[in-house]
Amino acid sequence: MNTPSPLRGRFAPSPSGRMHLGNIFTALISYLSVKSSGGAWILRIEDLDPQRSRLQNALMIQDDLLWLGLQWDEGGLDDAGPCAPYRQSLCDHIYADALTTITHTTSLLYPCFCTRADLMASNAPHQSDGRIIYPGTCRPPQPRPWVTPPRPAAIRLRVPDRIISFTDTVFGPVSSNLATDCGDFILRRADGAWAYQLAVVVDDARMHISQVVRGADLLLSTAQQLYLYQLLRLPPPRFAHLPLICNSRGQRLSKRDSSLSMQALRQSHTPQQILGILAYLAGLIPRPSPATIPQLLSLFSWDRITPRDTIILPDNLLS
Ligand code: GLU
Repeated sequence: MNTPSPLRGRFAPSPSGRMHLGNIFTALISYLSVKSSGGAWILRIEDLDPQRSRLQNALMIQDDLLWLGLQWDEGGLDDAGPCAPYRQSLCDHIYADALTTITHTTSLLYPCFCTRADLMASNAPHQSDGRIIYPGTCRPPQPRPWVTPPRPAAIRLRVPDRIISFTDTVFGPVSSNLATDCGDFILRRADGAWAYQLAVVVDDARMHISQVVRGADLLLSTAQQLYLYQLLRLPPPRFAHLPLICNSRGQRLSKRDSSLSMQALRQSHTPQQILGILAYLAGLIPRPSPATIPQLLSLFSWDRITPRDTIILPDNLLS
């Protein structure tokens, strides 16, 4: 009988600001899931967007994780481990190779000259999360081999009109038809920046990630990513999407909720208090009392995480 390989999980923050309670919720659950089963936890810095990513933010992310006691086994800014680079800004050549593979093995890529303003003006339908479903303006009538365009263009991927299904560890069976739910999507922007969807698939595959834990805001992206796994002939990981933590007004946490940023939380709480609050929100403990990492490791089970879209923060939980 084959013994299953140990889990490999990751936390993949974008260093565009200080983490908030929602970010560390994802980090903690991903950590507990892999470490309670003896696996490896990887920190990947998703600094794809040069305009929004700051080294200072990545340093603070690391500092906040260590303050909570979440030590990664591979990755981070010092790029330590067998699957380096762990910083997306260093992976240009790796994404270029993946794009070349898709260019050579399919006729599904085409140049797209639409600007965001064009798409906003096109009355194209939107996804439930507000993203525009691409109306197909630049899509050739039939798939055809890639031809380099005469002026800068985004590279868009034609999607199939069929259902893509997977079983999410938290949400159970999930199905999506990319043609109606998303439309053809971008792999590389006209300014040369790589799209998250391509980078995340290439990196999760080359880092041998077997379990992706992240917020439910990325549930809709999973079908896009599974399609890329198919085209690149790479084995997909298992996915576990977590309910999003919302403030007491029911809004998703954002940089505006400064009282829930790690900067504020570290001034008013100990790491054990924050761990206890996160574990309580996840359903791992019955009261928000202080907890340690070893205690939570012994308690962790996916069965305790209830599938729901959001977790509303009770008003007095952090006061
Ligand atoms: N970098 C993404 C974010 O910070 C997460 C991507 C993922 O976990 O797949 O939202």
